[in-house]
Amino acid sequence: MKTHAIRIHQTGGPEVLLWEEVSVAAPAAHEVLIRHAAVGLNYIDIYHRSGLYPAPLPFTPGLEGAGVVEAVGASVTEFKAGDRVAYANPPLGAYAEARVMPADRLVRIPDAITDVEAAAMMLQGMTAQYLLRRTYRVKPGDTILIHAAAGGVGLLVCQWARHLGATVIGTVGSEDKADLAKAHGCHYPILYKTEDFVAQVREITNGQGVPVVYDSVGKDTFLKSLDCLQPLGMMVSFGQSSGKVEPFDTGLLAAKGSLFLTRPSLMAYTAKRSDLVAGAEELFEVVGQGAVRIEVNQTYALKDAASAHRDLEGRKTTGSTVLLP
Ligand code: NDP
Repeated sequence: MKTHAIRIHQTGGPEVLLWEEVSVAAPAAHEVLIRHAAVGLNYIDIYHRSGLYPAPLPFTPGLEGAGVVEAVGASVTEFKAGDRVAYANPPLGAYAEARVMPADRLVRIPDAITDVEAAAMMLQGMTAQYLLRRTYRVKPGDTILIHAAAGGVGLLVCQWARHLGATVIGTVGSEDKADLAKAHGCHYPILYKTEDFVAQVREITNGQGVPVVYDSVGKDTFLKSLDCLQPLGMMVSFGQSSGKVEPFDTGLLAAKGSLFLTRPSLMAYTAKRSDLVAGAEELFEVVGQGAVRIEVNQTYALKDAASAHRDLEGRKTTGSTVLLP
């Protein structure tokens, strides 16, 4: 079958994202053919495009999509043609009108959730789920720090952490983003381009520090984030939007109070199907209750993915971004 997809023949800037006609094979025995209604944009797509995370060339980027099953392989029993499904996993290839996916990586989209919401929430929302519920289990009364609080993962973490009874401190790149984070559960937005977030966290916590920092900014914030933690606190370094964290002396973790450090990835937390399904169910539940709202603040035509990449890298987006085939 012929369809269209974004292809990358050489890694580089947004201009390497080319809209082309491609062939999609019939689904193998364990696979499902999906026609996308919406595709999710994520920061990791930039790493694949730039070559920071290498992928064999040429390839179609993208890890997240939602749509309708068109055909299933011979051994697939859980899904049938017409089912609405979503995913947030390898293999790459979401930036396409249609694609095949292993059936065991899909979840069914509940009726109350639209395709656009599903494509916006799966990767960032299941990330929020494992960060808050598994990596460090947030308890009522905790005060937590989340960087890039107005971003895709950030807005979800703010809302969900507040719902869990936490006080949320969040860093943001502008006044508008501070207002947005505040409207989504962030009690204390900090403008980290101009304000000293370590001093502010110390002040807000009466000098105690926080039990956990969720840091996706990386290079620019990593060492300062360690200074925000209380003894035995947990540094969750889950991204590198400002660049890779420099190698550092692990003795620092002892010097700053026997800190824990983890560098988690959604792929490991959802590798088992039971974990994938449980994470998605918990996410759909908080969204269904209205405790967490999915903010799709930007949409682009899929063939215009380069513009979406420019805006995400340029810190111009807030909340989630969806590409429409
Ligand atoms: P975001 O919407 O959070 O976009 C990135 C944000 O990072 C920007 O909007 C900006 O917000 C902030 N930022 C700070 N410094 C820079 C910089 N130098 N260049 C660009 N942005 C910067 O993206 P996502 O929600 O898609 O992802 C957030 C992060 O989480 C990414 O690093 C991503 O790789 C990571 N991630 C990790 C996962 C995991 O399992 N480990 C899974 C999902 C995401 P501001 O202007 O407010 O500073």
